[in-house]
Amino acid sequence: MLLTIRTTHQPATDLGFLLHKHPEHVHTREFPFGNATVFYPEATDEVCTAAVLLDVDPVGMVRGRGGKGGAEDQYVNDRPYVASSLLSVVLSRWFNSALGGRCERKADLAAADLPLEARLAAVPCRGGEAFLRALFEPLGYSVEATRHELDESMPALGPSRLFTVTLRATRRLSDLLTHLYVLIPVLDDQKHYWVGDDEVEKLLRHGEGWLERHPSRDVIVSRYLVHQRGLVRDAIARLTTEEQPEEEVAAVQKDEQEASIERTISLNERRLDVVCDVLKASGASRVLDLGCGEGKLPRRLLADHQFAEIVGMDVSGRALDLAESRLKLDRLAPKQRERIRLLHGSLMYRDTRLSGFHAASVVEVIEHLDQPRLRAFERVLFESARPGTVALTTPNAEYNVKWPSLPAGKFRHQDHRFEWNRAEFQGWASDVASRFGYVVRFLPVGDEDDQVGPPTQMAVFVQAPAAEARREVAERDRGGVEPREDQG
Ligand code: SAH
Repeated sequence: MLLTIRTTHQPATDLGFLLHKHPEHVHTREFPFGNATVFYPEATDEVCTAAVLLDVDPVGMVRGRGGKGGAEDQYVNDRPYVASSLLSVVLSRWFNSALGGRCERKADLAAADLPLEARLAAVPCRGGEAFLRALFEPLGYSVEATRHELDESMPALGPSRLFTVTLRATRRLSDLLTHLYVLIPVLDDQKHYWVGDDEVEKLLRHGEGWLERHPSRDVIVSRYLVHQRGLVRDAIARLTTEEQPEEEVAAVQKDEQEASIERTISLNERRLDVVCDVLKASGASRVLDLGCGEGKLPRRLLADHQFAEIVGMDVSGRALDLAESRLKLDRLAPKQRERIRLLHGSLMYRDTRLSGFHAASVVEVIEHLDQPRLRAFERVLFESARPGTVALTTPNAEYNVKWPSLPAGKFRHQDHRFEWNRAEFQGWASDVASRFGYVVRFLPVGDEDDQVGPPTQMAVFVQAPAAEARREVAERDRGGVEPREDQG
């Protein structure tokens, strides 16, 4: 799947600033459905082209899913080659700032209309060229479309629904990306993921300023929401009035609130120090930081050469964008660059990319998960990924009374779903350890108070010696009944 974006605005290489991807480097990111790469086939002052290549893994996508079609349909399909909702996911996760028109270093340029050309190598277009034009021409694009034969060696089979499409306009880059984000899945008329209420929110947010007045508005809404009548009615009803809260601003405010509470004792620094020490002492060289956020811990690990492979994973595209720029990934020397990777994924789902690591850290993450879903997380980490050592931290709720700025009964961060006292945390961790064959010990993080304990609590899980684990499994399988000798 290939999308190229070209500009002749001068200096054209400024496109790299707007996309937050340096034109001299090749950028890659792993997604749950495959790898994405951004590179620049041409980058001069006169003309610059950014190419977004998405290498979809069709087997990985369907692994473990029921799927609607037969087995063959799951493996033999057009998804790896065509622009689809997967591309929209990449645009929203990896080009979040560009999509939102944010660029600190070139704010004027982000707000300016630029000569732009976007080319999609293959787009499935249900409704043909007329529909394609009806989507993009009212938005001011000139549209060039070439329809592909089903099989060029057998013209009798007739045309396919695939087009190569070139769109040209003088627009803000964020407008172009937003139009592609919304309209590619509309052209394709299918989505790879479950469409629920939050899809209405996304559509209204990204459609702001153009979708309300688009002559094909209703069909766009209907296809975007995969024809789910309730959602479609809701979206159309709200399209005239709705004003969305700025999601990102809210997230920053919440993070800042927690940071300012904890800054009084530089807790964040101390937490990262202790976790680093534990990982180092475990002897690990391949490490995972799960829920890595803005990448503070991976940055520290990178400074220590014991860690040959460092993988940060997070569910938030915003956090990964920040991590990528904080770690200055595109400016690292190749040897350093090879040591570190960022993955987009969720700790709620089993993920083979997390297997084979010596150690993992999970720093201030579990309290962001819904408590009933901790069970899923436990299996993902301790049963499937199964690193040798796990360092896991969470707030100690007892300590909250020590912060005058934190109202009684309130959590440290608005997104926390729970905060545990020491007995609750130790009870949970001991149970997990015994169920999954780990031994756990507990360490305080920050200065311990006589009454309420330390501000942060940490559990260090180490895989129980293999022999012991085998014995436990054998005992469990026997269910306490001695094997019968007379059965050979
Ligand atoms: N470990 C980092 C960030 C902690 S904030 C640090 O100590 O600085 C919690 C992080 O967990 C956020 O970045 C959030 O996006 C992430 N997170 C929440 N739910 C998640 C999930 N289901 N899978 C992966 N990451 C998740």
